[in-house]
Amino acid sequence: MHGLMMDHPLTLKLFMLRAARYFPNKEIVTRRQHDYHRYDYREWYQRVQRLAGGLQRLNIQMGDRVGTLAWNTHRHLELYFAVPCMGAVLHTLNPRLPEDELVYIINHAADRIIFVDESLHPLLMRICDRLQTVEHIIWMSDQRISDQPFSETPLDALNYEGLLSGETANFDWPEIDENSALAMCYTSGTTGLPKGVVYSHRAIVLHTFAAALKDALAIGESDVVMPVVPMFHALSWGLPYVATMLGCKQVFPGRFLQPKNIARILEKERVTISAGVPSIWLPLQEILSSGNYDLSRLHTIPIGGSAAPLSLIEAYERMGIEIVHAWGMTETSPLGTISRVKSDLSQLPAEERLDFRSKQGLPVPGIELRGIDEQGKEIPWDGQTMGELQVRGPWVIREYFQDERNEESFTEDGWFRTGDVITIDCEGYIQIVDRTKDLVKSGGEWISSLDLENAIMSHPQVLEAAVIAIPHERWQERPLAIVVTKDPLPQREEILADLQERFAKWQVPDDIVFVKEIPKTSVGKFDKKRLRAHFANHQVDG
Ligand code: AMP
Repeated sequence: MHGLMMDHPLTLKLFMLRAARYFPNKEIVTRRQHDYHRYDYREWYQRVQRLAGGLQRLNIQMGDRVGTLAWNTHRHLELYFAVPCMGAVLHTLNPRLPEDELVYIINHAADRIIFVDESLHPLLMRICDRLQTVEHIIWMSDQRISDQPFSETPLDALNYEGLLSGETANFDWPEIDENSALAMCYTSGTTGLPKGVVYSHRAIVLHTFAAALKDALAIGESDVVMPVVPMFHALSWGLPYVATMLGCKQVFPGRFLQPKNIARILEKERVTISAGVPSIWLPLQEILSSGNYDLSRLHTIPIGGSAAPLSLIEAYERMGIEIVHAWGMTETSPLGTISRVKSDLSQLPAEERLDFRSKQGLPVPGIELRGIDEQGKEIPWDGQTMGELQVRGPWVIREYFQDERNEESFTEDGWFRTGDVITIDCEGYIQIVDRTKDLVKSGGEWISSLDLENAIMSHPQVLEAAVIAIPHERWQERPLAIVVTKDPLPQREEILADLQERFAKWQVPDDIVFVKEIPKTSVGKFDKKRLRAHFANHQVDG
């Protein structure tokens, strides 16, 4: 027997129309070089329609890929909706990738148009004669219209505002199959070429519902949402979609991501929820705790992308701001797990509750997960045994876009192999031990680099710490800690003594190297590949 409910497609249009209709006066704010751009959902929706009209005039058809090379701005939010709702596919491009990778991604996805922020013009100009499928470039600038920068390119160049000005705000949205593609995003793989992830309308709509839940990101209409996580990193973790669905005020920091700028905009716009990778919030910690900013509105910061150190969670807790630790991947749209303390654990001492919050947590409703050991068996929930995290659910990837490497990423029974190593505790909370390739194998035993990093970063004088494996003749690999400190410098011995108290002797790094900065990947994570290459010949005794 079939259910007798409407077969109404789950498409992004539902959220766009709701926001425009019921929250026309809510603000959308973008930080610009000298001022702030402000408008409301009414004007936003008019521009979204005109943008869709402009795309149609450029002959963009259902399924065509539309690239964006842009920071977090209101124009990017217009593209986030206009492109998928007219049936085309939004392809967010990461401007921090090496140029060769960017060229590969644009050609592989066969982008027909690229929308580019003014500050990223020079980048696009450097690669544009290697782009095989791009017909138009749309330049997004706050200056008056001038197509000058493109006069010497073979591509047709238009100004964004010029494109919109030729259109009226009455676009006739097509009916879209909920399984059709909404957006694509390439994973910045650490080995091999990037892989394309293609999101469907259905997946993103369901992800948006789940992400908003009280037990997930807990966002409501009265929140003021500022995604610091870039709109080219896994759809900004879905925040622009959640915020629009609910009609929240949205705030975009543009390209102004220096700690002081973030602090100022958090205060000025009375942001209540902001999200990003730990490397955004670590340097901000001191500025925010200085008391110079009124952050009384800011209540929650979802953090993911890499492990949130316990010390970071504690530091923000002292400021009355809750860090909610989440795990996800580009391949999981991205929200997979989130760490909130179950109500029946609320009586535990504060320290133990914090312990749970520092883990990556429980699957959000809709996601299933399991840990699989080297023999292919499910690991027990003992908080000790390690296994590979495998997931499945309606917003988890089924296959990579036109890629020969699909087979290795999926199990025969249909689970996605994340490449992350986990333990699961008796309550079901997962803890990421490492990426498979980042685990340190010393004398046949595995050492978790994340555990060590977490412990080192709990030292009050340590700002950042990355632990990598370096080759060792006798033990195969040994851990090396690379540390950035605040003033005054802690002694190397002091940190090591601290670790010796918490870890078995063989797990403690043999050496600590102090550096000014730890190199980051294009999405702000510790770049362990570069660190490993740099320190490959570092001599460790023992
Ligand atoms: P990306 O697709 O670039 O966001 O990368 C996804 C990967 O980031 C995951 O497979 C994890 O290795 C890592 N990651 C994401 N969230 C966390 C977290 N909360 N703790 C530790 N690692 C994380």
